[in-house]
Amino acid sequence: MRIYLDHNATTAIKPAVLEAVTGALSVTGNASSVHAHGRAVHSALEFARAEIARLVGAPDTKGVIFTSGATEANNMVIKKFPPERILTSAIEHPSVMESSPMARRLPVTADGEIDINELAPLLEGVALVSVMLVNNETGVIQPVADIAQRAHAKGALVHVDAVQAAGRIPIDMAALGADYLTLSAHKMGGAPGVGAVIAAPKAPPVKLLYGGGQERRQRAGTENAPAIVGFGVAAKLAAGDMKAYQKLQSLRDRMEKSLQQSIEGLHIYGSGARRVANTSCFSLKGVPADTQLMALDLAGISVSSGSACSSGSVKPSHVLEAMHVAPEIANCALRVSLGWNTTEAEIDQFIEMYVTLASGWERHA
Ligand code: PMP
Repeated sequence: MRIYLDHNATTAIKPAVLEAVTGALSVTGNASSVHAHGRAVHSALEFARAEIARLVGAPDTKGVIFTSGATEANNMVIKKFPPERILTSAIEHPSVMESSPMARRLPVTADGEIDINELAPLLEGVALVSVMLVNNETGVIQPVADIAQRAHAKGALVHVDAVQAAGRIPIDMAALGADYLTLSAHKMGGAPGVGAVIAAPKAPPVKLLYGGGQERRQRAGTENAPAIVGFGVAAKLAAGDMKAYQKLQSLRDRMEKSLQQSIEGLHIYGSGARRVANTSCFSLKGVPADTQLMALDLAGISVSSGSACSSGSVKPSHVLEAMHVAPEIANCALRVSLGWNTTEAEIDQFIEMYVTLASGWERHA
């Protein structure tokens, strides 16, 4: 049996979600049609919309717009604003970084937390601040509420990429000060290919795709109804399972402790900051990440090096670079991310395998 420890790339679909998605796949009807078939699908979408709104504490369902995922959702928000009036952090997901090439970037501390002390001068003339709530590589929780408060005082709006936070920590849009918040279903037990932008009641509408009246005319194209139905179930479960999810922290912490005790030269990123329960990012100095990744893969364990979204090409992670990690060490970084179905036995096996492999790896200076 292979062991999957790459839940930040995508997590396993929950059984109730699978059931809801497959059930919805056999239902015929377009949510925009006025006949009974259409109306049935429409009401299923509205049920899901209510669950998404509830998960993030949105006051009503009107602000929830379904998209093809968080990449589209992030682009929708970013592209609404003048390119030179955007401020993001230096550790955002590529869907934010690459859609805002002219943006100013907030630096981060050595622990991977956005450096709020650098905020004031960068806020001048900014229309949109886009910051993630949890970093996908390190799991570090970002000081979003503080940033939003200062951004609002300067008249800027705030977008929060909450993809890696959903189901892991409570999300309350108003408490965060988020004017827009974006989510992706497949990081919380839903199907891939569906996400959402949630706009606060007074936030100006955002729109990327034209050609249809779906989603209150804000996102043209027939909705992926089966995946959206599953997204609703995943959101409901994510909210209910949040306490159980915290148990992953003791597994993660035990794993980090065991590895550090047994292996010399292991550095854990973000361990001095607040992190979500499931993520561990560490470097083993002198052993390139692709060597580690391949050896683990052959041993039946799936993990990721840096950001999974860009793996396949071995580039140093922009997140570790922003944390001022030297490239030769950043290139030796692995990300191990646990999920709702990770077991203690799997972590024990991972520890044993990694320690065994590490003792045999040749270390380059
Ligand atoms: N933002 C973050 C923080 C992510 O981790 C990801 C997925 N890697 C995305 C956005 C993009 O999400 P999707 O896969 O739904 O396009």
